[in-house]
Amino acid sequence: MTIFDKIIARQIPANIVYEDDLVLAFKDVKPAAPTHILVIPKKCIPRIAEAQPDDHKVLGHMLLKAGEIAKKAGLEQSGFRLVINNGPDAGESVPHLHLHIMGGRSMAWPPG
Ligand code: AMP
Repeated sequence: MTIFDKIIARQIPANIVYEDDLVLAFKDVKPAAPTHILVIPKKCIPRIAEAQPDDHKVLGHMLLKAGEIAKKAGLEQSGFRLVINNGPDAGESVPHLHLHIMGGRSMAWPPG
């Protein structure tokens, strides 16, 4: 069970900003931007490279909800970044798929 499964099961606390049948969104405990929210599927898909064709509904839902959550957080005009880290070179640290919503500051490209 990953730390994110424990958040879904309410075994550890999180600052939850959105929830429905398929996804949960909560504030990142170590924010790297003024707004930093994680959107996770309730189903444990370890990482995007391990998603299956049957997961297309939840994957699309994550993106749609990320846009809505970013707008609700007031980021529509200033902009925001969506990030998925997959594997060691990308810095993935929790093996439960998560989409980072980051905004509230100007960001460099390409990322470090
Ligand atoms: P990644 O490096 O892409 O795997 O991102 C994992 C993210 O999860 C990091 O930004 C962490 O700060 C965040 N994180 C780890 N534990 C928690 C937690 N208990 N609550 C909220 N965010 C967390």
